[in-house]
Amino acid sequence: MKDTARHQGMRNLLVQQLQEREHYPISDEKVLQAIRTIPRHLFLDSIFEEKAYQDIAFPIGAGQTISRPHTVAFQTELLQVREGQKILEIGTGSGYQSAVLITLNVELYTIERQQELFKKTKIFFEKMGYIPKKMLLGDGYRGYLPQAPYDRILVTAGAPEVPKELLAQLKIGGRIVIPIGKGEQVMTVLVRLSPTEFSKEEYGTFGFVPMLEKIQTRIR
Ligand code: SAH
Repeated sequence: MKDTARHQGMRNLLVQQLQEREHYPISDEKVLQAIRTIPRHLFLDSIFEEKAYQDIAFPIGAGQTISRPHTVAFQTELLQVREGQKILEIGTGSGYQSAVLITLNVELYTIERQQELFKKTKIFFEKMGYIPKKMLLGDGYRGYLPQAPYDRILVTAGAPEVPKELLAQLKIGGRIVIPIGKGEQVMTVLVRLSPTEFSKEEYGTFGFVPMLEKIQTRIR
C-alpha cells in the first residue's frame, strides 16, 4: 500500500468531520494537523484500506482494536501536549496513537502487553520512521519507573480504576488521560496538584478494549 493524493483527500475530509461534529469537536490545530498527515490506512490490514478514514475502530490482531480517529484526537487534545515533553503511553497497539504523539515532537515511552502486537508495531515503526524514545513489552499497570516522572500519561485501554503506580509516576502539574470503567468507560483527566492531591475532570463515555494485567506471549 502507498500513500496517495486520494488518501490525503480522505484525511482532509476526516479532519473536517472531526472539527464539525456535535459532541466534543476537535479544535487543537496541532492535533488536527497530525491526523491530516499520518497515513492511518498503513496502520491497518489492507482489507480496511477504503474505510481507513471513516471514524470507526478496526481489529488489529490479538483481539485488539485501533481506536476511532475521534477518540485518538480527543484523548490527544485532552492531554494538552507541549513539544519536548516526556510522555508515557499505555497500549501501543497498532501504533497510530503513538504516531500522533511522535508527530507532536515529544519524548515517547510506549508500553504494550501483547507480544505479537509489540513485535509487529516495532517493525512497522522502523519501516515508517516513527521513532519513540522507547517501546516496551510490559504491563502498563506498573508504568515505567526508570524514566519517571512523566509530564503526561495516556492510557488507551479501559481501566477498572486509576492504577496507583501510574499516578505515582506523574510529575507535579502533570496530566493523565485515562478511560475508566468496565464495559464502557468515562474519559477521565487527572492533574497532579501536589504529591498527594489530584484534580479530576470527566468527559463522555467511550468503548475501549480492557486494560489487562501481565504480559501476553500467546494468543488465547
Ligand atoms: N493506542 C492503540 C490502541 C490499541 S487498543 C492504537 O492506536 O492502536 C489498546 C491496547 O492496549 C491493546 O493493544 C492492548 O493489548 C493494550 N493493553 C491492554 N492492557 C495493557 C497493559 N496493562 N499494559 C500495556 N498494554 C495494554
